[in-house]
Amino acid sequence: LSPEELLGLDRFNVDEGHPHILVDRARCALCAARPCVTVCPARCYRLKDGQVAFDCAGCLECGTCRVVCKDQGVTSWTYPRASFGITFRCS
Ligand code: SF4
Repeated sequence: LSPEELLGLDRFNVDEGHPHILVDRARCALCAARPCVTVCPARCYRLKDGQVAFDCAGCLECGTCRVVCKDQGVTSWTYPRASFGITFRCS
């Protein structure tokens, strides 16, 4: 299976109203490098009208965005609450 097909096997239970990642949009807008857009394997970060737009639905909980963000504090990162988030499945 391709990586996309494997990801399609996963299941998500999005915790509506309680995102496990919060992005300080004002501080994020000051970043020119925007590594989150490049590194997120789930494409949760996208450029929209020149700004970073974020949606945690589909997040793989890999933590990469937390690591690459140079301005610590822009991203507030926790795991989803119990029973929410991703359930990985293998073929
Ligand atoms: Fe993307 Fe991983 Fe960050 Fe989730 S934890 S938003 S999958 S980089």
